[in-house]
Amino acid sequence: MSNDLLTVAYIAASILFILSLGGLSNPETAKRGNLYGVAGMVVALGATAISTQVTGYGVLFVSMVPAIWIGGLIATRAAMTALPQLVGLLNGFGGLAAVLVGYASYLNPDASLAGIDLTIHKVEVFVGVFIGAVTFIGSLIACGKLQGWVSSKAVLLPARHLVNIALLGTVIGLGYTYMTLQDTAGLLPLGIMTAIASLLGVTLVLAIGGADMPVVISILNSYSGWGAAAAGFMLNNDLLIITGALVGSSGLILSYIMCQAMNRSFANVLLGGFGNTNYQGSATVEGEATATSVEETVELLNAASSVIIVPGYGMAVAQAQHAVAEITKTLRDRGTQVRFGIHPVAGRLPGHMNVLLAEANVPYDIVLEMDEINDDFAATDVVLVIGANDTVNPSALEDPHSPMAGMPVLEVWHSQTVVVLKRSLSAGYAGVANPLFYKDNTQMLYGDARTNVSAVLSQLTSTQAGVPALASAGR
Ligand code: NDP
Repeated sequence: MSNDLLTVAYIAASILFILSLGGLSNPETAKRGNLYGVAGMVVALGATAISTQVTGYGVLFVSMVPAIWIGGLIATRAAMTALPQLVGLLNGFGGLAAVLVGYASYLNPDASLAGIDLTIHKVEVFVGVFIGAVTFIGSLIACGKLQGWVSSKAVLLPARHLVNIALLGTVIGLGYTYMTLQDTAGLLPLGIMTAIASLLGVTLVLAIGGADMPVVISILNSYSGWGAAAAGFMLNNDLLIITGALVGSSGLILSYIMCQAMNRSFANVLLGGFGNTNYQGSATVEGEATATSVEETVELLNAASSVIIVPGYGMAVAQAQHAVAEITKTLRDRGTQVRFGIHPVAGRLPGHMNVLLAEANVPYDIVLEMDEINDDFAATDVVLVIGANDTVNPSALEDPHSPMAGMPVLEVWHSQTVVVLKRSLSAGYAGVANPLFYKDNTQMLYGDARTNVSAVLSQLTSTQAGVPALASAGR
């Protein structure tokens, strides 16, 4: 393939990647966005493979075929609840690729590079390897935390900020030595820097508590993008630079949005060690929770003219979304207004709930963001909270000392009746007890969400014949 054609293919792939990001920003267009991304990657890979720069087809085949097979296998087998770990692992591979590309291009530089170009190239290698190593090891630790292989508690090394600054200082010193050495003599400082960057990946991520890990995954995703962009500079590959910058900046924007939704400081996240609070959370809340039954819940739903469903991580664990979708359909068919309220960080990944509801064919137009629905709770008859906890915790607004203080939450308690479906009164991911469970208008439907939602569905459909239709416009 000629260089001109290669450029055209790269431009086409870049446009497809941008369209993909645009599509992924809305559930209605997300599938199309995904397809754009796949198409962009096929164009990029295909064009690169048949370009004049590539000659080692044997190596390419031997590395790509098992990689495609393993990637397909992992992606199809991963449970929805394991997606954050999977994303973390894949970010890590991006970082590892940047490290390997860095070493390869240092050991085998473009012979035509000289003077300032060679200097710039050496800087690119050093920076790319540094970002890649922090990302790779940091992602492995994050993945281990999410999977439960590494303690999810924040591990605080003594004087860790000083240690991190000292490590960074050493990296800069090594960078100076590396730049002054000719040919491949800088391999030793490069190697020592890689080891230190890996250590930094460990210290930065170990210091972060489990509840904040998804934001860290998103930051590492951004780092992996910058690592890829650095690799693009090393290889003089425009597509890699564009793609890396897209991943890097979109990851940063996503992290920023998540930080805002959780009332975290973005600067703290970037420096690592955030989410570290000595506040242990109120272990208990005064008062008594009121238990309810499937029958009573069905009665409430039968009498309601407006219902809001608030799903959380527990719905994903229980895989209750299909039964929830059936309940929604049943109620809507008889004229009840049913909508969903989605907190930006419900579940363990942004968009986690939207994906599950879309999978169960819940219409997009009744799935509303927190800001769109928060004012409507006061005029709602019944709110079903299904496996959500932190995202509906009033202490975020009422207790200024709570680790969640200031985090916007879905204010479900303003509705007439709240039914919470979960297995116990235990705290959510953030480890903070939830006063919602003890409010006068809250009823607890204990048990596995799928079992209870299915039981509600079957009673709802069996009582349907006797229920007067509440059909009214707009419902
Ligand atoms: P939470 O983790 O707060 O609560 C989920 C609840 O689901 C648990 O309290 C659990 O209670 C219940 N549950 C678990 N399994 C089942 C089951 N089989 N059946 C019924 N209930 C079940 O989830 P939320 O979605 O409300 O909040 C998300 C949390 O994740 C927040 O703390 C948020 O800050 C954090 N987070 C999310 C991010 C994101 O991007 N989405 C980013 C960073 C953090 P029980 O054990 O009693 O059943």
